[in-house]
Amino acid sequence: MKVYKFGGASVRNADGVRNLLKIIGDERDLFVIVSAMGKTTNALERVFAGVQQADRQAVAAEIAALRDCHATIIEELWHGPVRLERVEAFFAELEEVTSRSDYNPEDAELWYDRIVAFGELISTTIISEYLAYAGVPNRWVDMRRALVTEQRHKDAEVDLAASAPRLRAEVEGRPERIFVGQGFIGGAPDGTTTTLGREGSDYSAAVAAHILDAESMAVWKDVDGVLNADPKIFPDAVQIAELNYLDTIELAYSGAQIIHPRTIKPLQNKNIPLYVRPFGDKRKPGTVIRGVSAPVEVPILILKKDQVLLTIRSRDFSFVLEEKFAAIFSLLERYRIKANLVHNSAVNLSLCVDDSWHIDQAVDALRKEGFDVLKIGRMELLTVRGYTDGLWQRYACGPQVFIRQATQSTVRIVRKAEAK
Ligand code: ASP
Ligand code: MG
Repeated sequence: MKVYKFGGASVRNADGVRNLLKIIGDERDLFVIVSAMGKTTNALERVFAGVQQADRQAVAAEIAALRDCHATIIEELWHGPVRLERVEAFFAELEEVTSRSDYNPEDAELWYDRIVAFGELISTTIISEYLAYAGVPNRWVDMRRALVTEQRHKDAEVDLAASAPRLRAEVEGRPERIFVGQGFIGGAPDGTTTTLGREGSDYSAAVAAHILDAESMAVWKDVDGVLNADPKIFPDAVQIAELNYLDTIELAYSGAQIIHPRTIKPLQNKNIPLYVRPFGDKRKPGTVIRGVSAPVEVPILILKKDQVLLTIRSRDFSFVLEEKFAAIFSLLERYRIKANLVHNSAVNLSLCVDDSWHIDQAVDALRKEGFDVLKIGRMELLTVRGYTDGLWQRYACGPQVFIRQATQSTVRIVRKAEAK
């Protein structure tokens, strides 16, 4: 068995779906994980925001636009208007869920998952039906049932042991040799739908590869492979042929948009190689990520945007802030805030964190616990691995740099974001 993952960008239109068929080619014994088409998840997040604000008009308009763009793809694939009953049924269910009057702000995350999961349910249904139409027998797998996650919404982790028998039962002894399942979604022990965090489809694919003992996993992307920097920000970016698991985790954690940070562990545990391959050209080798790799010869630059710098100080000016670390971190964990960089002095603890809707709540809670908190927004975190003198001069110096943490090989810089 191999696992192939196709992201939203690669199935954003009919050409993309046809290309997916081409990439599958004669492969059999394949588990295909697919994301929501194009920017569907963003649109569904707006649907959710409309539900939160009880803005029925906005909800209806967003859903109508989603119906349209999926209908266009279907029409192009089938060369004419066709009604796919199961797609219609999902849209009807989405409408039903979003027009219910029992929205409860205390369960915002449960509602978020309930709504955004439709993106993958719909995309996989279209793709599974299209493959069948093109003469490729396949089985649609409902990952809400196949993957058991923890009882936590919006950023759930998969319970591998609990999921294994369920996912295997979907695959073993079936006559079909191609399976199509949704990325990004699972089901909690209480039966509600969960999601695995934005861009979580890579993680779904890695979990499937782990459970099914896949020989390899491939992520088909709209880039040639893993680059040493984002070419939109750093124009001299070059491709890296090989990476090892450890470096990849470091890169993903620093904000490289290669792969969802949780993807590597399930693969590493079973030593399954991960290929990052260009969707547009099956002949190109892409990048391979595995246990051992040749050393990376070029510096790697990763910019994580939309950061907030929190500086926390104990109000009684206590010099033993360390004793309070556990309390601070468990409070942040409660609000799902992850520190991307930690820097401490005698009386201050500075944290660079992702900007999120929970930060102000967390800051209030910290203040109630007796801390002074300074919050500075519009920051970014730049990581340079294998820095040179030139890169140091260029990025680690200057008035926009607030924090700079360096080891022999890596420097991490918290800096004010450039004005847009
Ligand atoms: N559709 C989800 C998202 O856009 C998951 C994914 O693409 O991996 O975040
Ligand atoms: Mg996506």
